[in-house]
Amino acid sequence: MKNTDLLKPALIAVWEASRCCEAIASELLDSDSQTKSDRSPVTIADYASQALILHRLKSLTPDVGIVAEEGAEDLRNEPELISRIASFTQRFCPEVNADTLLDLLDCGNHPGGNGTFWTLDPIDGTKGFLRGGQYAVALALIEKGQPTLGILGCPRYQWIEGVTGVVFSGGEGIPGQFWTSESSAPRRLQTSSKLNSTDSKLCESVESAHTAHNLSELVIKDLGISSDVLRMDSQAKYAAVASGAAGLYLRLPVKKGYREKIWDHAAGLAVIEAAGGRVTDLNGKALDFSQGETLKNNRGVIASNGTLHHPALAALLVHMPEKPNS
Ligand code: AMP
Ligand code: MG
Repeated sequence: MKNTDLLKPALIAVWEASRCCEAIASELLDSDSQTKSDRSPVTIADYASQALILHRLKSLTPDVGIVAEEGAEDLRNEPELISRIASFTQRFCPEVNADTLLDLLDCGNHPGGNGTFWTLDPIDGTKGFLRGGQYAVALALIEKGQPTLGILGCPRYQWIEGVTGVVFSGGEGIPGQFWTSESSAPRRLQTSSKLNSTDSKLCESVESAHTAHNLSELVIKDLGISSDVLRMDSQAKYAAVASGAAGLYLRLPVKKGYREKIWDHAAGLAVIEAAGGRVTDLNGKALDFSQGETLKNNRGVIASNGTLHHPALAALLVHMPEKPNS
């Protein structure tokens, strides 16, 4: 099946999972203690989102492997948790019930590599999910090390006034688009191309453990872009650049030796590139998705509207204390 034929059914799967996550957030976050780790809303939402999407993918592309973040291992002796997760998935898809849940979750154990496979982050930006901020349901098809289709569900993204929840899509031969519901007509996505404009904004992680905020501040000054930084959790940052709300997304390694996970970037990259932007690592190298679960050959990530890419790479070369190769 061609990636263009997979767009619509994959989009529907991501919408369904996004709605399920929001149902869990609104029903559980207020009443459940987040300290009970085995019953936390985020755990339930991660598993429910993954199960719903894998169910759809299994019938859509039965021969294509899936590299998904979660597995069933920790659920095996948790009948109560299984039934709570199933109580949510069944609302959206009756076939995903307590009997099928574990086997379904384990369908996401493909090792990745240089072939064709899906990669899924059922809830990217867990912290955002819990604190009422941004999170994303991120699904991408990878072919020979490159994402060729990306669907990014951002259930709390407000792109058009009064409309909350957007799904972004893009890929090889597929334009950058966004959808405000499954049935609405898609609209075109376009990155901004405001080189050195004070209107261009930087977008970065909320978490200082995930990116070096002090270093990005120096880059902002060099580029002369707005000092009004958009901090948000998850791949919603890719959506911000793809839609022109930000011109640049920097992910500057804090922890030596950390390797980015493929599911944290594949969908976002496909969407941005289809909207006219660029994504590389901090050495200007293309991200290589053929190395298993991580971007083993890359350090950090820079995503841009295209025009800010080179200036940002040059600024990083000046300010990074050592070359980004460890
Ligand atoms: P964000 O919401 O952009 O801060 O990114 C969330 C993602 O960061 C999670 O899905 C994790 O896989 C990933 N992550 C975990 N630890 C690190 C780290 N030390 N550096 C960069 N990313 C990390
Ligand atoms: Mg993630």
